[in-house]
Amino acid sequence: MIPRPFEYHAPTSVDDAIRLLGDYGDSAKLLAGGHSLLPMMKLRFASPDHLIDLNRIPSLKYIEQEGNEIRIGAMTCENDLIWSTLLKEKVPLIVETAGLISDPQVRYKGTIGGDISHGDPGCDHPALMLCLGASFVLRGPNGERVVPADGYFLGTYYTAIEPNEIMTEIRIPIPPAGSGWCYSKLKRKTGDFATAASAVLLQMSGDIVNNVSIGLTNVAPTALKAKEAEKALLGKRLDDTAIEAAAQAAMKICDPAEDLRGSVEYKTAMAGEMTRRALRTAAARAKR
Ligand SMILES: Cc1cc2nc3c(=O)[nH]c(=O)nc-3n(C[C@H](O)[C@H](O)[C@H](O)COP(=O)(O)OP(=O)(O)OC[C@H]3O[C@@H](n4cnc5c(N)ncnc54)[C@H](O)[C@@H]3O)c2cc1C
Repeated sequence: MIPRPFEYHAPTSVDDAIRLLGDYGDSAKLLAGGHSLLPMMKLRFASPDHLIDLNRIPSLKYIEQEGNEIRIGAMTCENDLIWSTLLKEKVPLIVETAGLISDPQVRYKGTIGGDISHGDPGCDHPALMLCLGASFVLRGPNGERVVPADGYFLGTYYTAIEPNEIMTEIRIPIPPAGSGWCYSKLKRKTGDFATAASAVLLQMSGDIVNNVSIGLTNVAPTALKAKEAEKALLGKRLDDTAIEAAAQAAMKICDPAEDLRGSVEYKTAMAGEMTRRALRTAAARAKR
């Protein structure tokens, strides 16, 4: 299908983009990689009168370290995440996750900021950001605010960003050296969204779990932080009993929608299985 007619704007600075958002309000949409927005416009689920393209703002594309944080510009594409030597060294969980997103065509255009801003529970970055304890920099006409990922995802296609704000940066605390990590994702075929996926970051002291964080993808109206599953592991020996308790706790909070990827029961069971697998791989990668 063909989208409704719209006016195209290509600002060259964040300030100009914010000004345009202020001028056109609810009738405007920001365009990043376009791989979620344009299909929605073609299906006429979205019909903005004004499209504000962020692709001519080079200052929104970077990956850098600032103290104990990694800072990523919102317009950084998946492919840049995959090839970043800084991320490979400091937060390899991001590299692993980005490599499992769709196919090269999508990864060359799709951006981390767009993936998070879209608010689609099927997107992989939201659960990853919950797992990593990330925060987001949102800039509007009155300046900047920094909001934690935990609490940001309010519903399907609904986040805490205001219509006059732009996500400019993603901030990620660098996990302690020796952390174990894994993104375990079940998908039907290359290019498909997750049937279910689980992101795990953990620190071990011998066989005991010192710290653990778990995020779940596409098993509820939003990405989930599996807090009860984390509690089931904290301070425990990471054996089959503890892993099973965590998997059961993760499944308890699932509320997926039935669709072509499977029934509610199947998706819930797969969230448990992805959590078991991610925990085992993360434990094997952790230094003790
Ligand atoms: C075939 C296919 C398979 C896919 N599979 C996966 C997958 O497995 N996992 C996955 O995670 N994703 C997947 N995607 C989605 C893809 O990663 C998208 O690129 C991503 O969800 C949106 O990023 P984008 O840069 O394309 O954003 P756009 O489509 O341009 O924008 C998406 C939304 O975010 C808003 N937005 C964008 N940038 C900002 C910003 N800086 N500040 C505020 N709002 C902003 C836009 O206004 C729009 O509402 C798939 C897409 C396709 C086409």
